[in-house]
Amino acid sequence: MMMISPDNLILDNPSHSDTFSNLAHYQDAFITSAAAENLALKGTAVQSSTYKSCGAANAIDGIRYAPGEATSCSHTGYQLNPWWRLDLLDYYYIYKVTITNRADCCPERMTGVEIRIGNSLENNGNNNPRCAVITSLVPARSTVSFSCGGMEGRYVNMYIPNIQRYLTLCEVEVYGTAKKQVIRVQVKTAENVDEAELKTLVLNKIQQKLQKRQQPGMEGSSRQDGFSEEQE
Ligand code: CA
Repeated sequence: MMMISPDNLILDNPSHSDTFSNLAHYQDAFITSAAAENLALKGTAVQSSTYKSCGAANAIDGIRYAPGEATSCSHTGYQLNPWWRLDLLDYYYIYKVTITNRADCCPERMTGVEIRIGNSLENNGNNNPRCAVITSLVPARSTVSFSCGGMEGRYVNMYIPNIQRYLTLCEVEVYGTAKKQVIRVQVKTAENVDEAELKTLVLNKIQQKLQKRQQPGMEGSSRQDGFSEEQE
């Protein structure tokens, strides 16, 4: 039987609670075929312009924070519509994008950044569908994550439209999978369940479903990729 570890499991948006009962939560779980890896590390990056030696690749060097002035960060020049683009070199379903802000100064510059994901290079990729906009201040040296719900794309852009600004990114991480494997489970939790506990509950539920499929007479319902969208 396929074993799934918490590292293989990405939970989508916080669970959707049932209108009639706070105890029933539907949770979409995305199961990656390998341990959840940061896809950005396999990609290449470019940006609209470069300030000093802060090239686009600094945002995907695997280092979130290093002491000093924007060390290990990408940094555009001061310009209108600055952008940064990651090419994953293949098509993925992207569930989570994680961004680390610079530590030394000016954290407010990240406010307004749009995360765009897709396969088009129109307008340098900045016209691709939007996953999220950073609308509130990301404090210096802190890391924020955005759920993108399996948006498909080869390119991940960071874009600040219609304003003259520097764009600085100390690290961008992208989590997703090449093959869509979605399983929807219903788990009963307390309202304030934390993610680790929720993952354990979801994993147990998935393992139960897999066991059921392995029972005699159940083989026919199993798809080749092992998972399909299901509801209980
Ligand atoms: Ca970095």
